[in-house]
Amino acid sequence: MSQFDRSGGVASDGEPSDRIDGTDAAAATPRTESRIPPSEVFTILGNETRVQVLHALLDLGADESPVSFTDLFERVDAADSANFSYHLDRLTGHFVRRRDDGYELRAPGRKVVSSIFTGTLTERAQLGFFPAAGSCHACGEDLHAWYVDDTLSIGCTDCGAIQVSYPFPAGALDGRSTDDLLDAFGHYVRHHYCLAADGVCPECTGAVETELVRTPDEEGQAVAVEHTCGRCSYDLRSTVGLLLLDDADVLRFHADRGVDLSSVPFWTFDWCVSDAATTVVSEEPLRVRLTVDCAGDEIRAVVDESGTVVETSDPDRDGR
Ligand SMILES: [Zn+2]
Ligand SMILES: [Zn+2]
Repeated sequence: MSQFDRSGGVASDGEPSDRIDGTDAAAATPRTESRIPPSEVFTILGNETRVQVLHALLDLGADESPVSFTDLFERVDAADSANFSYHLDRLTGHFVRRRDDGYELRAPGRKVVSSIFTGTLTERAQLGFFPAAGSCHACGEDLHAWYVDDTLSIGCTDCGAIQVSYPFPAGALDGRSTDDLLDAFGHYVRHHYCLAADGVCPECTGAVETELVRTPDEEGQAVAVEHTCGRCSYDLRSTVGLLLLDDADVLRFHADRGVDLSSVPFWTFDWCVSDAATTVVSEEPLRVRLTVDCAGDEIRAVVDESGTVVETSDPDRDGR
């Protein structure tokens, strides 16, 4: 059984063939699913009369009990009963089931109708709270993750602080446990931020401008990094700490202490998700210093107004 709860779920009538995507039945159970290729689905549904038939079936309660040919025919704009029969036949099989006493809406048919009439044809994936590594930067409590509207968020259900929230395409949920999902998310987001910081738009590969900005309206965060793509207007805002994730000195400082910054989830470091380690050292131009602890030592990095790390001082190189 899939652990991912996809909203708009299908009524379970015990028939495995009633799944349009076939993702959730036990993998070990032999399947006799009547899969049809997506192009065929659109061919079948690309007709106003057939969409009307599906809609009428739902209206008449055909997902509960069969509806007669006559009742259905009266509800649909068809030239004549032969024409109507033809369209009904095209739907019969995958979307509609013919019974002795009439026609029933099968789960894929019901899903299509509700998708069309709620304005979304794609399944929306959702995932409730599940545990995530690390602790809240604000209160120290455990973290949880959730997935809604194609966005994965990790935060504290205790105080409401959000560590990270970033769009993550739903395909990432396929075939992954929640641990694997978080692992993939960590890599995905870190690479996006690092790409943007290197001047490459993660969306369109256009040129990205990076600057430090004052953020007086954002609670608890005085300075942020803003990446803006001149080509597609992609806009990414982050803490200054994220800029350090691929700084050679910062990476080595951590590696020397047994911490691999490329594999440990970035949101578990307070300096990546909050301003806790950031001090403003100059306003005009804006310049900040980050002080990052690891294993009892600290490394300091100065970041200029363009988001460039201009100076680091670390104990291994400079002595204590
Ligand atoms: Zn908290
Ligand atoms: Zn772009």
